[in-house]
Amino acid sequence: MHFHVMTLFPELIDKGMHTGVLYRAMEQGILSLETYHIREYTVEKHKRVDDYTYGGGAGMLIQAQPVYDTYQAVLSRIREREGDASGKKPRVIYTTPQGRVFTQAIAEELAKEEELVFLCGHYEGIDERVLEEIVTDEISIGDYVLTGGELPALVIMDAISRLVPGVLNNDESAMTESFSDGLLEYPQYTRPEEWMGKKVPEVLLSGHHANVEKWRLEKSLEKTRKVRPELYDRYMELHPPVVKKKKK
Ligand code: SAH
Repeated sequence: MHFHVMTLFPELIDKGMHTGVLYRAMEQGILSLETYHIREYTVEKHKRVDDYTYGGGAGMLIQAQPVYDTYQAVLSRIREREGDASGKKPRVIYTTPQGRVFTQAIAEELAKEEELVFLCGHYEGIDERVLEEIVTDEISIGDYVLTGGELPALVIMDAISRLVPGVLNNDESAMTESFSDGLLEYPQYTRPEEWMGKKVPEVLLSGHHANVEKWRLEKSLEKTRKVRPELYDRYMELHPPVVKKKKK
């Protein structure tokens, strides 16, 4: 997976991706990250990238030209690596509170791409015309407003990265996690068997695989019903309980 991020704060993106598991995956070449500083592409002599909004209103807007030229730099970088043959346009994700809300399902869909381009906004956002020209996906990380698109881009890249084969040590863990089957994950325990008088549930020590699975499903259902009833209802619609017919 190759990530390209267009931003006014490349150092924030670089730092955010250079930790733990993601850093290791980049060292191994499973992931790569390139940042593009939008300010470097402005033709304005004082290096400004923002201006007032037409029609009035508070706040500044990032102009179309520097964003478009940054995007051209991303495209040439991709062509350099992949060759010009396909001419395929990469998906360009603009992080915005106006986008569809990010979910595990979207992460799974995006994890199938080879190149992903992110555009991070600032101030009041970005001139609509350049968004129309280059953006393929608008994604929000939730119903609140942040000062910039860098944290959302990091959130989205993090969630995608751990789905890329080889990034996590254990492929299994991405399969059984919260949301992967529409439920929240069951509680988990590690050593010691007893801590502050609290014991690990007996069934987990039993070595009886089927019982462990049954217990985990029950706990997942319990937790999901309590904190995310809408997820629980959807799960129950998709997995109606098997009702045994009574013998006449
Ligand atoms: N005026 C805009 C908000 C601008 S916030 C509006 O009302 O929609 C500044 C930048 O932060 C945005 O361009 C976007 O890139 C980023 N941002 C803020 N909140 C976000 C969220 N919830 N999800 C994704 N990106 C967000």
